[in-house]
Amino acid sequence: MDKIILVRYEEIFLKGLNKHFFENKLIRNIKHRLSDLGIIKITKSQSRIYIESTDFEFDIDEAIIRLTKIFGIASVSPVIRIPSEYEDIKKTTVDIVGELLARKPYKSFKVESKRGDKKFPMNSPQICADLGGHILDAFPQLKVDVHNPDFIFYVEVRENTYLYSEIIPSVKGLPTGTGGLATLLLSGGIDSPVAGWMIAKRGVELEAVYFHSYPYTSERAKDKVIKLAEYLAGYCLSIKLHIVPFTEIQMAINEKCPHEYLTIIMRRFMMMIAEKIAEKSGSLAIVTGEAIGQVASQTMESMLVTDNAVSMPVYRPLIGMDKNEVIDIAKKIGTFDTSILPYEDCCTVFVAKHPVTKPSLQKTIEYEKVLETEKLINDALSQTEVIKL
Ligand code: ATP
Ligand code: MG
Repeated sequence: MDKIILVRYEEIFLKGLNKHFFENKLIRNIKHRLSDLGIIKITKSQSRIYIESTDFEFDIDEAIIRLTKIFGIASVSPVIRIPSEYEDIKKTTVDIVGELLARKPYKSFKVESKRGDKKFPMNSPQICADLGGHILDAFPQLKVDVHNPDFIFYVEVRENTYLYSEIIPSVKGLPTGTGGLATLLLSGGIDSPVAGWMIAKRGVELEAVYFHSYPYTSERAKDKVIKLAEYLAGYCLSIKLHIVPFTEIQMAINEKCPHEYLTIIMRRFMMMIAEKIAEKSGSLAIVTGEAIGQVASQTMESMLVTDNAVSMPVYRPLIGMDKNEVIDIAKKIGTFDTSILPYEDCCTVFVAKHPVTKPSLQKTIEYEKVLETEKLINDALSQTEVIKL
């Protein structure tokens, strides 16, 4: 009897001839995330992945928690694997259900069975009926409920037999590393970590850029962004965080440009700097946490002016979402509690009383002309700090 983990994936099925590329990336990512838990053996069979370890110390529960954060995995189950001998199957079934009932006082169940090995002498309905009977004999407090059972006991008879009662959902999406690299504008707020997570979910690797306005924004504000980047790195293996000093640029804009255009010009600088960083690292897009109408700089007119500053595509995965929908995801992925810590944000320091909500592109470009754009950008880039998380 071996305790192993069964990993299921969904969308990779659709990948036709590329399927092996996606599967192999997923296996590589699993190895990377579990390697410090002990020696593991990973096998791929019939569009599933099995993980086992002969290491006595191997912590299956911790492994399962980590697997539910790996993109590309649809669900995982802790599974008992035994030889496909019916007497063994019956005995082990009663043991497993006994353990389950010791943890929770379930009242009803059903058995679901799959027979992959057609040489096995019983078919699926026979296995369900017979094993169900054995469970009822051993635990008379239980009854069968095929429509709404408290638990389902799964039996898969293949070359070996797999027994389990739990299917734990994972994050789905596509394996990290199958979709190229994108550059996330990561602030300390609620939205941008969620935006990054949504792009990363599609198999895209992320690098992050944070604009830091020291001393107007404190070291603690920076630490908060580092912590958010760490959370994201938990999903996408690793992240490079570029910390760009932004004070000089904000002061120059503040001094030389009309105040109602402050934010929009500042956002164009963020884009231009992000694009430079992205080009250097081979990234194919910039990602932000904007949604239509959320604030003055997120109207369609404002975003048109922002996008005009760069030629690279800007992805805004939250574009049609309400704040509460974003908050729900932030809570689910674990970034919310850090995002709401009350440290100041660079955009709230230099802020106009009445920012334009419908900026004109022509005027913006005109106002920007007084700035030494290239020098400001190059200076900021040359002082950028890079942290690998
Ligand atoms: P968030 O919750 O992500 O901070 P927000 O609702 O506060 O977003 P803005 O402050 O207008 O909105 O920022 C819009 C987007 O611009 C953010 O989602 C983020 O992608 C980017 N951004 C804003 N400030 C910074 C910053 N200091 N460093 C890096 N990116 C930033
Ligand atoms: Mg913000």
